This record gives sequence, structure tokens and C-alpha cells, in this order.
Amino acid sequence: MDFKQHIRVIPDFPQPGIRFKDITTLLKNGLAYKEAIDALKEKVSRYEIDYVAGPEARGFVIGAPLAYALGVGFVPIRKSGKLPGDCIEASYALEYGKDKLAMHRDAIQPGSKVLIADDLLATGGTLSTTIDLIQQLGGEIVAGAFLIELTYLNGREKLGGLEVISLVQY
Ligand code: IMP
Repeated sequence: MDFKQHIRVIPDFPQPGIRFKDITTLLKNGLAYKEAIDALKEKVSRYEIDYVAGPEARGFVIGAPLAYALGVGFVPIRKSGKLPGDCIEASYALEYGKDKLAMHRDAIQPGSKVLIADDLLATGGTLSTTIDLIQQLGGEIVAGAFLIELTYLNGREKLGGLEVISLVQY
């Protein structure tokens, strides 16, 4: 399937000059959504995976069905202050200031093999922060799986050779 034709590009969102890749048009098409998850599942089938971890919010939309399809657990990574249990945190830089992502301390066990999933890889900042959290808990990251990769932002280069899988590239 040509997944790109189901992704809407919105110019000047959230600010002038950005061409935002809107996946809601793909998600609302049952066949396109299913085929996208199935295609990611196929691409990661060669890895041994204990958990899929996804950062909120669009990482849930890709990561949770992927975990279900693989028959493994899903671990949510959330903005600081949202998870109820004992958490670890990692900061990441925003354009203006900082934000923090959090994960439950008992979400994974040391040595767990974790696949990170999100809708889109841009600069790699979100992925680096997610890697930091999983590594703090002794997890082993097997790969990152994305619907979309903005290759011109070179996110991969920040990730120290981590395997990156993406369905659609811009
Ligand atoms: P990064 O941290 O720079 O790699 O940005 C990736 C994060 O920003 C992902 O969690 C995406 O959901 C979000 N993001 C950045 N650009 C877009 C876009 O064009 N469409 C949808 N999400 C985006």
C-alpha cells in the first residue's frame, strides 16, 4: 500500500515554515491503519522483543496495536506527572525550555528487550529521551519503529547506530 497517500501534509502548522505530517487521515481509514501496523509488525519480526514502549500521545496509537499484534506487553512513556506509580524521568530540550518524560520504575526488568514505537522520527530528541529512560532501567533497545521518518533532519545520526525502521520517508 502507498501509505504516503493517506498522510495529509498541513503547511505552517504548528508554526510558519513547518509542513506537519498529519496521520489522522491514515488512522481513520481502517484498512490503511491495519496495513500500516501489519507492515511494521513484519519489519520487526526478526527481533526478539519483550515489550513495545511508546511515548505519548501518538506513540500509543502506533505502539499499542503493534504490541498487541506481536503478542507482547505495551509500556507507556508519559509526560512528567501523569503516571501514578513510582517513576524515573529524563529531560529533553524543547525549542523554548525543557520538558520531561517519565516511565514507571517497575515497567521493565533489567535485560528486557524493548522496541520503541512512535508515529514520526524527526530530530530524534524524543527517541533519545525514551532510550535514556529504558537504559536507566537496564533495558536493551532492539530498534525504533516509526510510521514516518523525516530523513532530512538526520534523527538516525543522533542514535548511535540504533536500528531505525520506518514505513514512509520524507
Ligand atoms: P523529534 O523528537 O524531533 O524526533 O520529533 C518527534 C516527535 O514530534 C514525535 O513524537 C512526533 O509525534 C512529533 N512530531 C514532529 N513533527 C511532526 C509532524 O510533522 N507530524 C506529527 N508529529 C510530529
